[in-house]
Amino acid sequence: MPSNSASPYDPAQRPRLVFTDLDGSLLDHHSYDWSPARPWLDRLKAEGVPVIPVTSKTRSEILPLRRELGLEDAPFIAENGALAGLPPAWCHARLDRGPGPDGLAIRTLGVDIGFIRKRLSVWRERLGIRFTTMSEMSLEELVDFTGLAEPEARLARLREGSEPLIWEEADERLAAFREGLEGDGLRLVRGGRFWHVTGDCHKGRAVAWLIDRFEALRGSRPLTLALGDGPNDIAMLEAVDQAVVIRGCHDLSVSPDQPSLYCSVATGPAGWAEGVAYWWGRAHRRLTSAAAGVTETVRGERTGRVPA
Ligand SMILES: [Mg+2]
Repeated sequence: MPSNSASPYDPAQRPRLVFTDLDGSLLDHHSYDWSPARPWLDRLKAEGVPVIPVTSKTRSEILPLRRELGLEDAPFIAENGALAGLPPAWCHARLDRGPGPDGLAIRTLGVDIGFIRKRLSVWRERLGIRFTTMSEMSLEELVDFTGLAEPEARLARLREGSEPLIWEEADERLAAFREGLEGDGLRLVRGGRFWHVTGDCHKGRAVAWLIDRFEALRGSRPLTLALGDGPNDIAMLEAVDQAVVIRGCHDLSVSPDQPSLYCSVATGPAGWAEGVAYWWGRAHRRLTSAAAGVTETVRGERTGRVPA
């Protein structure tokens, strides 16, 4: 966690946190490139602002990525909110078990993957519906479907608290499936490529949990910014002070109930940099945020705004 000795009452020095989706947001949807975001990642690091991945990816997929992205001092949220990984500075002596061999304390915020898989097979049989879970796909099929390289695809299959699936029925049949899962305390959420079945957890609840943790450890409420491109990001975008919807490579609607919203013109990491620049590239906007009761929804494409 960054050191920040300034008064919490000075808004310019208020601690800040960035929460970000990965696929289609910080990482390009197709190539997984993130270089357009690099200047802002460097700047945020220099300013001591943690950039916290909040993703449907697994813990095993995130660990090498956060090394590559230089985010090893920040916590992360994996599998759509099912678990949080906490570096030592984010651990609470009384509330967390000690860190594991990778130096991280892992908090489970959802349910075990074994329970999810068991209930999925029950509902498939009971409702006579067709879907393919990630664990049922061969490695080759997963590589084809996601565009991941084989080593990354292997890591994607190491699920701990959520199961992605490809829906192979008409959308009308989703309601009965969703209802069945809800009776088991499970949720069905849509990501960019897959539907995801998780416990009673989502990105928004996990983000709120981490903000509370920050406040408990630091004694001040941070200014928070979140960026995402998918429907599974909506709860996260609603849980923060300022939000960016990154233009998606899909036709899904992403309309969070968030008064301080910027919608990017560019997709992927270029849209990510555009969104961070919109909110934090100019000091005045950082200071007059939703926290001060300012309502502002801006669509980059509608206004033709040139980001700072
Ligand atoms: Mg995404």
